[in-house]
Amino acid sequence: MRSKTKMIHGGVTGDERTGAVSVPIYQVSTYKQDAVGKHRGYEYSRTGNPTREALESVIAELENGNSGFAFGSGMAAITSIMMLFNSGDHVVMTDDVYGGTYRLVTNVLDRFNLNHTYTDTSKPKEVEAAINENTKALYIETPTNPLLKITDLNKMAEIAKKHNLLLIVDNTFATPYWQQPLDLGADIVLHSATKYIGGHSDVVAGLAAVNSDKLSGDLHFIQNSAGGVLGPQDSWLLMRGIKTLALRMEAIEHNTAKLVEFLQKHEKVTNIYYPGLESHAGHETAKQQATGFGGMVSFDVGSGEEAEKVLSRVQYYTLAESLGAVESLISVPAKMTHASIPADRRAELGITDGLIRVSVGIEDADDLIEDLEQALK
Ligand SMILES: *Cc1c(COP(=O)(O)O)cnc(C)c1O
Repeated sequence: MRSKTKMIHGGVTGDERTGAVSVPIYQVSTYKQDAVGKHRGYEYSRTGNPTREALESVIAELENGNSGFAFGSGMAAITSIMMLFNSGDHVVMTDDVYGGTYRLVTNVLDRFNLNHTYTDTSKPKEVEAAINENTKALYIETPTNPLLKITDLNKMAEIAKKHNLLLIVDNTFATPYWQQPLDLGADIVLHSATKYIGGHSDVVAGLAAVNSDKLSGDLHFIQNSAGGVLGPQDSWLLMRGIKTLALRMEAIEHNTAKLVEFLQKHEKVTNIYYPGLESHAGHETAKQQATGFGGMVSFDVGSGEEAEKVLSRVQYYTLAESLGAVESLISVPAKMTHASIPADRRAELGITDGLIRVSVGIEDADDLIEDLEQALK
């Protein structure tokens, strides 16, 4: 089954008993047992819920894994994955990971002596150099936020294999439609399903998929023990979102390409960060490991003042954090998503005050271009 078909027919679909075409929302916490200790596969909804399981079976199929997991947020997914490790273990991580991941690792997991090193994972040599005798995993985000840096996942898989490490990939920006990290050698893939997978700015959720019985058992044990599970309503909304994921991603890809073409010609725009551009450092790698470049684009308008002016004038771009929705979203990373990063560190990463980030939606591309054109005047 191809990806697009899986989005419609993959995993558990419908309801056997009634013939209902959509999966019922099992709004239930506990299940009647036929005799003491004799149940029908479900005992308690933290451990297993049919609606959540249906969603978990779809994400497993979309990522070509053997099991999927649904969590209450992307951060709950990441936290649960990190709980696979022990105190004293060490993880090598992409240096510009999502801010929430940075906070979790630096301010929370550190207290449990789960150690980390941030490194530029787009440079395999630096990754090798960061590995020590306690290293247990590589944690990669690609493309990254907001500069869309690309890490070569085949290379990371090679390094992981050589040093006996788990390769964990945050696939939020690429989506399982454009990129399947498990096929490229990753052990665990995860998503903030709040973004493209949900796609409508109405659910906070996290998903993960693995492709080994060992990891599947271990992660289910943590999911059930730590309890950060997704509720049945939100599980259902994500399944609904997945039905149109391919369509949305194709529309977004088309709009993004047109918007980038416009930005390239605009004299006020100095730098454009988009992996679809041949001038982007990760372009070749992106082309090789993903079938689309995604809908995130960042560009520099010279100053923080100018950026704020643009944001105050746009009509079709919603000024908001988050990304991956049907509506286009716009933000200034230095003042919003990345404000907690010290100014000198931001400068090091290249996140200037004049940098604008757009999450392109599925509106008419011409409206998006015209709106940005008047805002840049
Ligand atoms: C949003 C995001 C997360 C965190 O997910 P939540 O659903 O907000 O908890 C993790 N990684 C990336 C890349 C994200 O964009």
